[in-house]
Amino acid sequence: MGGFGFPERQLAQGDLVVRSPINGAEIAQLSTSSRGDVERMIGEAHTAFLAWRTVPAPRRGELVRLFGEELRAHKAALGRLVSIETGKILQEGLGEVQEMIDICDFAVGLSRQLYGLTIASERASHKMMETWRPLGVVGIISAFNFPAAVWAWNAAIALVCGDALVWKPSEKTPLTALACQALLERAAVRHNNAPARLSSIILGGPELGEALVDDRRAPLVSATGSTRMGRAAAPRIAARFGRAILELGGNNGMIVAPSADLDLAARAVLFAAAGTAGQRCTTLRRLFVHESIYDGFLARLKRAYVQIAVGNPLEAGTLVGPLIDKRAFEAMQAALAEARAEAGVIAGGERVHAELWPDAYYARPAIVEMAEQTPLVRRETFAPILYAMRYRDLDEAIARHNAVAQGLASSIFTNDLREAELFTSGEGSDCGIVNVNIGPSGAEIGGAFGGEKETGGGRESGSDAWKAYMRRATTTINYSRDLPLAQGIRFDAPDGFE
Ligand code: NAD
Repeated sequence: MGGFGFPERQLAQGDLVVRSPINGAEIAQLSTSSRGDVERMIGEAHTAFLAWRTVPAPRRGELVRLFGEELRAHKAALGRLVSIETGKILQEGLGEVQEMIDICDFAVGLSRQLYGLTIASERASHKMMETWRPLGVVGIISAFNFPAAVWAWNAAIALVCGDALVWKPSEKTPLTALACQALLERAAVRHNNAPARLSSIILGGPELGEALVDDRRAPLVSATGSTRMGRAAAPRIAARFGRAILELGGNNGMIVAPSADLDLAARAVLFAAAGTAGQRCTTLRRLFVHESIYDGFLARLKRAYVQIAVGNPLEAGTLVGPLIDKRAFEAMQAALAEARAEAGVIAGGERVHAELWPDAYYARPAIVEMAEQTPLVRRETFAPILYAMRYRDLDEAIARHNAVAQGLASSIFTNDLREAELFTSGEGSDCGIVNVNIGPSGAEIGGAFGGEKETGGGRESGSDAWKAYMRRATTTINYSRDLPLAQGIRFDAPDGFE
C-alpha cells in the first residue's frame, strides 16, 4: 500500500493509543500525523485534484462503484471493526457499512446526473447556462460516533464531483478510518485511472483539524462534530473565505399526541433514545407527551427500559453497548446529578458491568421526568438520557420543542392529519429533519441530511447536497453580431472607435 495515500508509517508503534470501549483495552498504537504531514497531504491532494477533474464524471463514478463493491465484500469485517472501535452494537456497525454502500450507489447514479440549467436570456441571440465544475480539495472532519458513514457521505459525493479528499477522522476511531482508506485504495488500483494521493488521512487530534480548517487549498471543509468544534472551526474557515458544511450537535425532540399509535411510538422511543447508547447526533433527547396519555405511556416506557439488554455490543441480543469513554460517562452522571437537583424524577442511568470491565463504561439508559425544559434539558448531553415532559396544547408543545439552540431532527406521533400537517409546516418544527410516525434518528441517504441553528445549517448525503461540492459557473454566450448590454444599458462607442 502506498501510492494512493495510505501512509505506512502510521501503522508503526506510536503516540496515538486506540482503545476499544467494549473493555477499555488497548487495541493499537499509531503514529499521529505532523502539521508538516497535513500540509504535504493537502498539497498532494491538490495535485491529484488537477488530474481527477479531467476524468469524465461517469468514469469518476466507476471508482465509487468499485469502492461500493469493496464495501460489500468486506461489510462483515468493517461492521465489526466499527463496533469494536465505537462500542455500537454489531447490527448498527453493519448498518453503518450498509449506509456507505447505499451512498456509493447513489453517487454512481449521480455521476451521470450532474445537471446544470439553460436559462432564458433577456438578450436576443444569447444563451445563458449554469454548469457545475469540480471544486478542489475537500477537507473532511468527522466525529467518533459515525466513524465511517459520515466520511463516505462526503467522499462518495465529492469523488464523483471531481474533488480530492483529505480526511481528519476522530482520534478515537482511527482504525476504522484506515480500513476505509485501504478499501478505497483497493478500488483505486482496480480503477486504474485515479491519481495518486486522491484521498489521504490525517491521524491525530483537534490541532490537526485546525490545520485543515486553516488551509486555503481546501476550498470546502465538511466538519461533523460538537457545536463547540463548529464554533471554533467556522470563523476560521470564514476568515479565509472558505466554504463549510457544518454538521453539529442535536437536541432532538418527539411529540406524542393523544391520537398516536402508542405501540409504534414506544418502539420508536426505545430505538431513538436508548439505541447507540444515546450517542447519535439524531438521538431522541426530549419527549413531549400529551397530558391525557402521559402517565400510561411513561409507565410503559419504563417497563421496556428495564428490559433493555446492556452489554457486549458484539453479542447477539445486546441492544445497548458502552459509552465511548470515561469522560462520556462522567458527563452523563453530571447531567443526572443536575437533573436530580432540579427535582427531576430519574429511572435508570446507573453504571453496569463495572466489575467485569473496570475500564469500560456501560450505563443503563435513563428516563428523566422534568416539569420544565430547563437549561439542562436544552443542552446536548451525548449519552442515553431521555427527558420526558407533559404538554397540554400542541402549539405550546411545538413552541417548547423549538425553544432550543439546536435544530437537527424531530418527530411527531399522531394520527390526526391536522396535527401532522402543522408539525411539518413552516409553523411547525424548525429542524432539518421533520418526521411523522417514525423517530428522529436513522435517516436514509436519499434525502439531504443536516440541521438548522447551532446544528450548523449544512446538508450532505442525498437530494441536491452534491451542489455544495462543486463550483457553479454561469455562462452567457452571444451568438449575435451585436453587443446588447443587460438591463438595456446604452454605452455607445465614441465616434471613430474601431
Ligand atoms: P468533537 O467535536 O469532540 O470532535 C469531532 C471532530 O472534530 C474530531 O475529529 C475532532 O478531532 C475534531 N475537532 C475538535 N475540535 C476541533 C477544532 N477546534 N478544529 C478542528 N477540528 C476539531 O465531537 P465527538 O465527540 O467526536 O462527536 C460527538 C458530537 O458530534 C456530538 O455533538 C454530535 O451531536 C455531533 N455529531 C453531529 C452529527 C451531525 O451530522 N449533525 C453527526 C455525528 C456527530
